[in-house]
This record gives sequence, C-alpha cells and structure tokens, in this order.
Amino acid sequence: MPFADILGQEKASSYLKKLVGTQKVPGALLFYGPDGVGKARAAMAFAQALNCLDPQARQTGEACGLCAACQAIAKSTHPDVTFVDFAYQARLEVKKDFSSKGYEEELEKEIAKQQHINVDTIRDVTAKSQQKAVGGGWKVLIIDQAQTMQAAAANALLKFIEEPPYKTVWILITNKRATMLKTILSRCQPLAFAPLTPDCVKQILTRTGADVPDADLCAQYSGGSVSGALKAAEALELLKNGDFGTPQGPAAVAAGLSRTLVTARQEAQAVLDVLIAALHREWTAGTDLPRQRTLQEALKRFENYKRSIGRNVSPALVLETALMSLDGLNVQIF
Ligand SMILES: [Zn+2]
Repeated sequence: MPFADILGQEKASSYLKKLVGTQKVPGALLFYGPDGVGKARAAMAFAQALNCLDPQARQTGEACGLCAACQAIAKSTHPDVTFVDFAYQARLEVKKDFSSKGYEEELEKEIAKQQHINVDTIRDVTAKSQQKAVGGGWKVLIIDQAQTMQAAAANALLKFIEEPPYKTVWILITNKRATMLKTILSRCQPLAFAPLTPDCVKQILTRTGADVPDADLCAQYSGGSVSGALKAAEALELLKNGDFGTPQGPAAVAAGLSRTLVTARQEAQAVLDVLIAALHREWTAGTDLPRQRTLQEALKRFENYKRSIGRNVSPALVLETALMSLDGLNVQIF
C-alpha cells in the first residue's frame, strides 16, 4: 500500500514521508479522524516505508511494495510490525487451537463480541515492543480503536509510549480523540486525517471495485468516508426495495430491516443518516420560506429519531414513524 494510493490524505502522507526521510520519528503518533478515511492504511504504508529494503525508500519516503519486508507487512506476517484491533484481540482470546475444527466460526463470534481493547492485549503488545527488531528496521506497533481502551489498558500503555526503545514507534488510531485520556494524548504526536470529498470517495469505491450499485450516489451520502459510503449503499437499497415515497413505503422499508436487533439498529441508523443528508441538502438549497421551516422541523425530528434508536426502542417502529412523518414533503433521495 503506497502512500500514493491513499487518496485525499496528502497532508498526512507527506508528513509521514518526511519522517521516513529524516528517520526522526516520534515515539508515539496519534492518527485521528473519522472512520473509513485511510488511517489504518496510512499506518501500514508508514510501517512499510520504514522497513522497506530498497534504499530508495529512504529518499522518497515511499516503500517499494515488492521487497520481502514490504510483502510480509502487506500479509501481516512481518515480525516487527504488529497491528492490534478487535480481530487481533479475539485471536488471543479464542481458546481453541487455530488448526482445529470450528476455529473460524469461534473466532468470528469472538470478534463480534469485542467492545474494548483490554489490558491483557496491551500487555501482549508492550511485551512485543521490548523485543529487539529482527529485521534490522523499525518496530511498529499499531493500536486501532484506541479510544476503546479502558483506564487499566491505557495506564498499562503509558510508560511504553513515553519512552519506547530505539527505532520503535507506536501508532494509536482513533475516531474519537476527545474521549481519550489526557495522559495518553499528551504523549502522542497528533496527526489529523480529514473527511474525504465525495469525489475522492467515489474514486476509492471505483478503484477498489466495491460492490455498490451507484458509486456517485453513495459518495454523496457518505459523510466523507468510505465506510459511510458502504453503509449508505445498504440504506439506499433498503429504501429502494421498500418503495420509498409510496404510501406503503414506511411499513415496507421497516419490514426490510434485519431480524438481528444489533444489525437492524445499524441499518435503521444508516437509513436515517441518508434521509437527514437529503433533508439537509434541500434545506440548504431551498428559498421557499414555509418549506424551509417544514424541512428544519423535519431535521430536528430526525435527530430525535436517531437518538431513540440507540435506546431500547424497536428500530423498525422508529424507522416507520420517521418515514411516515415525511408524508407530503416529497424529499428527493435518488
Ligand atoms: Zn520494499
């Protein structure tokens, strides 16, 4: 994954390339910004550039992508590069042997259960940080979803990010910098990742061959991130299949939600997000005062619907009510 392939993050990429060139790398970096804008991919590109065996990499700050080190990092098999996320943690927690029958299923279940990066996982990775790099390059320790570390985990990490050994760098990735412990934040060099433009999202969807029916439309409703675009794709599909805009639409769209509560909640939220974006677009473009007022009221109502889905209310019921409340407004989605 060369930096050149991380679209829309030129500022962050050029900072990281400069660090590779000078080899003056802070002990800990904090990559922050919305989900789905390239933070994890930038961390991997940085790990490759730091460990690339091609001497040119040092000059350009860009990995070759072809040498043994680059390839091992791409395959997550490089001994000096560790990427901690919920999947990594689940692998530590699954009791079954990985070669035994039913391991994959058990792992999937375990991944779905994860909500926090816990203290045992942090101890596992801090132990790794103390071992000497075997490849002769840099030790790179990446923690995704760093905002989910509870106090014990964060405290276990503190002294390790404060003074990492020579040629060791920690990268903490988060979508909620504001909720993280100040003691962690003060030890990390922050690096912002901006939301992507719709054009950029569309390019990424097309380049990666994402399975979306209308990349243009999904990009418009993406909220500036690729994961947002994929969520929007599902929401648009639900609205389309449920004949949005027809009298039977509200009930039919709600009936299309998943039977699993957690998934149904996420789907309903995604549909509301698309509708909020559409309402907002009409409100900003509109000039007819009475309609502007109606749109504004609808927007307020929809924020409330979104909040109530998070509570103990049936997502189908909230979604149906929300859609019914749009009756007569003639909101353009597609
Ligand atoms: Zn290389």
